[in-house]
Amino acid sequence: MLEENTQPAVLPNVVPRVTRSTCPYCAVQCSFDLHVLDNKVVKVAPTPECPVAFGTVCKKGLASLEDLNSPERLRQPLLRKIGILEAVSWDEALNFVASRFLELGRDNPHAVGVFGGGSLTNEKVYLLGKFARVGLKTKNIDYNGRFCMSSAATALNVTFGLDRGLSFPVKDLEKADCILLFGANIAETLPPLMQFLKAAKKAGSSIYTLDPRQTVTSSMARKHIFVRPGTDATLAGGLLHLLEKWGRIDVAALEQANNVADVLESVRFLNPETVAEVCGIALEDLLEVAEVYASARCAVILSGRGAEQHENGTDTVQALINLAMLAGHVGKAGGGYGTLTGQGNGQGGREHGQKADQLPGYRSIKNPQHRLEMARFWGVPETELPGAGLSAQELLLECGKSVRALLILGSNPVVSAPGSSVVLERLRALECLVVIDFFLSETAELADVVFPGSLWAEEAGTMTNLEGRVLLRSQALELEPGAFSDAEILCQIAKRMGRGAFFDYPSFDALQNEFFASTKGGIADYSGLSKERLLERSLQWPVPDSSSEGTPYPYSFPFPTPDGKARLRAVAVSLEPSETALHFTSGRLSGQYQSGTQTRRNPRLSGALEMQIHPETAALHGLSAGDAVRLSSAEGTVMMPLVLSSKIRPDTLFAPFHWPQSANVLVSSTRLDPLSKMPSFKYASLTALEKISVLPNLLEPNAELVAGA
Ligand code: SF4
Repeated sequence: MLEENTQPAVLPNVVPRVTRSTCPYCAVQCSFDLHVLDNKVVKVAPTPECPVAFGTVCKKGLASLEDLNSPERLRQPLLRKIGILEAVSWDEALNFVASRFLELGRDNPHAVGVFGGGSLTNEKVYLLGKFARVGLKTKNIDYNGRFCMSSAATALNVTFGLDRGLSFPVKDLEKADCILLFGANIAETLPPLMQFLKAAKKAGSSIYTLDPRQTVTSSMARKHIFVRPGTDATLAGGLLHLLEKWGRIDVAALEQANNVADVLESVRFLNPETVAEVCGIALEDLLEVAEVYASARCAVILSGRGAEQHENGTDTVQALINLAMLAGHVGKAGGGYGTLTGQGNGQGGREHGQKADQLPGYRSIKNPQHRLEMARFWGVPETELPGAGLSAQELLLECGKSVRALLILGSNPVVSAPGSSVVLERLRALECLVVIDFFLSETAELADVVFPGSLWAEEAGTMTNLEGRVLLRSQALELEPGAFSDAEILCQIAKRMGRGAFFDYPSFDALQNEFFASTKGGIADYSGLSKERLLERSLQWPVPDSSSEGTPYPYSFPFPTPDGKARLRAVAVSLEPSETALHFTSGRLSGQYQSGTQTRRNPRLSGALEMQIHPETAALHGLSAGDAVRLSSAEGTVMMPLVLSSKIRPDTLFAPFHWPQSANVLVSSTRLDPLSKMPSFKYASLTALEKISVLPNLLEPNAELVAGA
């Protein structure tokens, strides 16, 4: 929900310094001004000059003031001594980490792993990848964006040779006369985008929300369709089947894509009655959506994590792209297919080298030419660059085995990884866990060393939002005397490991300029950017030289594939009706964010850990509103109170994932999409649902997870 700015006015007799920044939370990346007095932010003010949200923000953005002034902010390095984390000097902590990494990686550099995050600035993403591959010489680096965006990114890369989440500026959504939202709850996760949906609706657009739950976003839709969890690919195939049957395949698209015959053949057997049954929807709804979509002049399909975070997530996105392409909407302003990136720098975070198989500029670590380019750029022999490493969940599951040490920056996998209890066990088995964070997260509590990370307002850098727009974040606050920023911590460790020659940056600007230059010639080319240009205005990548004005519409024919055509791919879908009586799915609350490290500590934000259940299902199990239940899957058990709602499918239960003992405990730790390695976050098959008499204090920070029920 959009919020009024209710913060106190700044005292009239003092003049604060104002610094333009961007929000630390989601991928809209609203711009706002930080008003600073005595190195303290006293006000966060939205600005109408914001090129994305035009002066609107949500409650999380305004509440970020509390994060900056939180008494829980870590201020000194912590080192575990005789089992207890003790405050130590920077020198002691840095020397300890450098010597442990040298020791544990001596015989096998891949024994030291690195785990990054989707909220890091582009410069930190770049530096973290270089730190891993040039500093530690390890192949094992991945990041939590693997858990968010990897399905959509994989399908977009395969199809178009390019992964930029949205193919147009978000304001263009106003131009779409049909909008299909698959598993995307914009009103609660990306609130400023609602202004564009409302404008589209006012202009006559037909909006459909397709989700197992009716959400706040659904309230402005023409119709909400309760889709069974995990059946979005079948639904997309069923829609394409109808388009072909009705002779509504776009003739031009046939010339712009490969494998069209295979794709159409693969949906030929998807008869509407069966599709409706498998997806758990009414046949007339399927026919209505197909007719409105086929008749639209400009239609867009947007997917969120509800559709993407599945074991078949890449196939699902591929099915949506096949549909959008063959309906003739790809390449139109406000049309085609787009993924709604979640994390603040979820887009830039997946471009510049913290992925297991990637080098800066969206280069591939498996491509000999790309390897050569980056080896030359960094001044190391190509043979010294490691190959592809383990993906995020594979890396976490390998901890305490071949991976003996792990450095985590900007992530809290104890809460955010699937199969939380298993991940907790693996992290405990490490010989050395190092966490850089500004709060003592559940993951930091396990660490051998915790470095107090820099707050977003204490750093400069660039962020790339969900439409590929690169925005400048200027430094508003000074670090405490003697403290190091996140980037400096990495450079200090590298220096103490004897690799300082590669990490000697006299200033942040030197690092930023190296980052921009590193992308030259890559798919995500930022080399035409500079701080000076970005101070004037944001630009959408690629920006290949200083005369380029950016690329608002990168997905037009010919595409950056070898023959310029989209590489469509037939997707196999099952028409077997689901045998599971009760599905479990999860999602976000508007007042919380990701693993809740910041938002659960923020007194201005709220949100309850509750299980949403349909009244009929509750009655079937002898349950009433407010009852506490124990819920089990093959992976683990959670306990929480119930809330009854007729806005959810009777065969589906929902819970948020922002707490240590919530949704992700139930999700399989090992079921990954074979193409993207996306875990199956949005689907767990339940084995038990039982009423319990007493609910333990689930929010105790050190409470044990209950595993393997
Ligand atoms: Fe904007 Fe997202 Fe921040 Fe809310 S959380 S203020 S929508 S960037």
